[in-house]
Amino acid sequence: MDFTLSGVILDNCMIAAEKNAIAKLFDIAADCLRDGYRGAERVYDFADDCPPGNVADDAVGNFFEGGAGNADSLDSVAGEVCACMGCSLGKTRKNAVPGEGVSRPDVMVVGEGPGADEDSTGRPFVGNAGKLLDKMLASIGLSRETNCFIANVIKCRPPNNRDPRPDETTACASFLERQMIVLRPKIILCAGRIAAQTLLKTAESTGKLRGRFHKMRVADSVIPLVVTYHPSALLRNDEYKRPAWEDLKMLKSWLDENSDANGAES
Ligand code: URA
Repeated sequence: MDFTLSGVILDNCMIAAEKNAIAKLFDIAADCLRDGYRGAERVYDFADDCPPGNVADDAVGNFFEGGAGNADSLDSVAGEVCACMGCSLGKTRKNAVPGEGVSRPDVMVVGEGPGADEDSTGRPFVGNAGKLLDKMLASIGLSRETNCFIANVIKCRPPNNRDPRPDETTACASFLERQMIVLRPKIILCAGRIAAQTLLKTAESTGKLRGRFHKMRVADSVIPLVVTYHPSALLRNDEYKRPAWEDLKMLKSWLDENSDANGAES
């Protein structure tokens, strides 16, 4: 049986955050029925129960092929990214842009790829779109300094800011996967079409993918994923601002409901 909780479809497996939300509901109901008021919040230590093969592949995005090692670190991924010549973008970049943020983030933001400002600084989302992204995150209490990690699908700038090519996303995939495995974010926010289509392995538009929760398999866990418009789309078109705000509020509600979920330390 499937049912929906806060927009997350619960199918034949559950992640810790979903179990937590259900337990919380039952606890509140039991407290109120027994005592007439809500008691102290109980803390549970649920685990994700999504071993490979337990969930239909169409229920969970599985962009990654697997293959990250055990003793990995953000620094070793960044070092390899900066030395990478795995596709032709290695020849044209000034700087590779591995990503930045806290090491145990609530939210991992995934964008498309570096632009000119990011290429010259080696840092993600530092141009006009990046400034807007920082403001969007701040509006719901998030920042790269305190509780987010910001990365891109590809780590080097494509010439003339063209869309990444499939060979380039494939060459970068294991870097992003290793970052996700090390970071264990509570939730992933895809900024824009390229990130969403790549991670969810779909050709659906941002408009179709936004406004709901998806799931992304990363190694042997499943991480909730939200899609919203890319900040540069918001800079070009005011129409995207309201739906993007709705997406951010949805993400924030999820974080509030899952503040003690497994994965990230608060
Ligand atoms: N756009 C992106 O998708 N990523 C960046 O880092 C900058 C702009």
